Amino acid sequence: MPGASERRREPSPRRGSIWPESTFWYPWFDGGRITFTVEVQSPKGWEVISQGERKSHQRDESGSAVRWESPEPQEEIFLVGGPLTEYRKAGPVEAMAFLRKPDPELAEKYLGVTGQYIEMYQKLIGPYPYKKFALVENYWETGYGMPSFTLLGAQVIRLPFILHSSYPHEILHNWWGNGVYVDFQSGNWSEGLTAYLADHLISEQRGKGAEARRASLQKYADYVAEGKDFPLTAFRGRHSAASEAVGYGKTLMLFHMLRRQLGDDLFVRALQKFYRDHRFKRAGFADLQRAFSAAAGKDLQSEFDQWVTRAGAPALRVGETTAKEEENGFLLTVTLEQIQAGPPYRLSVPIAVTLEGQEGSIRSPSTWTRSGRPFRSLSRPGRFDSTSIRSSTSSGGSIETKFPRSLICLRRGEGVDDPPIVGVEGAARGLSSIGRGLGKNAVDGDRNQTRQRARGPSL
Ligand SMILES: [Zn+2]
Repeated sequence: MPGASERRREPSPRRGSIWPESTFWYPWFDGGRITFTVEVQSPKGWEVISQGERKSHQRDESGSAVRWESPEPQEEIFLVGGPLTEYRKAGPVEAMAFLRKPDPELAEKYLGVTGQYIEMYQKLIGPYPYKKFALVENYWETGYGMPSFTLLGAQVIRLPFILHSSYPHEILHNWWGNGVYVDFQSGNWSEGLTAYLADHLISEQRGKGAEARRASLQKYADYVAEGKDFPLTAFRGRHSAASEAVGYGKTLMLFHMLRRQLGDDLFVRALQKFYRDHRFKRAGFADLQRAFSAAAGKDLQSEFDQWVTRAGAPALRVGETTAKEEENGFLLTVTLEQIQAGPPYRLSVPIAVTLEGQEGSIRSPSTWTRSGRPFRSLSRPGRFDSTSIRSSTSSGGSIETKFPRSLICLRRGEGVDDPPIVGVEGAARGLSSIGRGLGKNAVDGDRNQTRQRARGPSL
């Protein structure tokens, strides 16, 4: 029913109004960044919000007058207004909330966490680029993120989990997408990075990181059928479950792999450098690659190429596996094959061997190379799980393992929560402790119902 929903969006004195650039309400210069001051006079009871800082604000019987100044270079000017009640909380960055009906309790919840999340991300990435952050309640259900404010629907903001899922996601967009702008022609990296450092990081802080990644991989497996896949360089915005699984999910996993490969310190250093170098400028995957290469001290071009410019993902199969009894134990030989079309990926897959009669498994701390690598243990034998191996061959390779007793079985799949990655479990502990404790009482849930797409970065 596009007619009905469009009617709801028409500006009206009762509902409010939104003036995006597409209405051409101001002179528009293609591609250039702009600084601006905007003064607006509006009807009585209205509040009008834009980017930047509110420098003056007067209300009287005839209406209100407001001036917003943005010395920070912007890609476009957003202006939203309507009959709204304003709430504020002072701080290094002013927190504001504009609600359609007075609701101090709800406002306080948002104002309370705004400063906390801004502080968390400042610590992680670098200075918040604006003077304020405002929650603005929209008159239809949206999840739009604009520089220094977010436009969320009435139902959305009352869902209990939004406060610690979509809301920090929108706050973080002030660094990714609304701070460093996206060079859309070379692919939208900002949604995946924002999802990784908001939605995923918050899940991780609650001990649910693996669960979140598995859900992300599940969506990729479920929705990205042949013909629906595309390289990350072709992602512009989410318009389907498949495009979300690639543009958000696969990009999120790219950053997870980078973090596991570099370790927390270098990963964070790369993000900080990327932010410092590109704030208020457009950047693409190539700029990210340069920042991560500089932090890692080695060229990551080929790593980026295989995940960013190529559609699809590796498909692995456990091939021939044998356990041969020897004098002092058993020799385990496993072949892992890449069976996807096209050239092999350079990747690392953790391996685990479960030993007969023992709880838990032995995980390989090493990576698997072309020639294979012996994996030895003096413990008793059990089971091989293909949670980890590095391969650079299309036909696989072999890994040899010596055990003192008989090998029970080989299986794969169980316990696999990541795609192939470099690194070992627990490599990323430091990052997850940043801001830990925020939103302990929030409830996780499926936010897809509430997501909508704006021109700029959105949920
Ligand atoms: Zn987003």
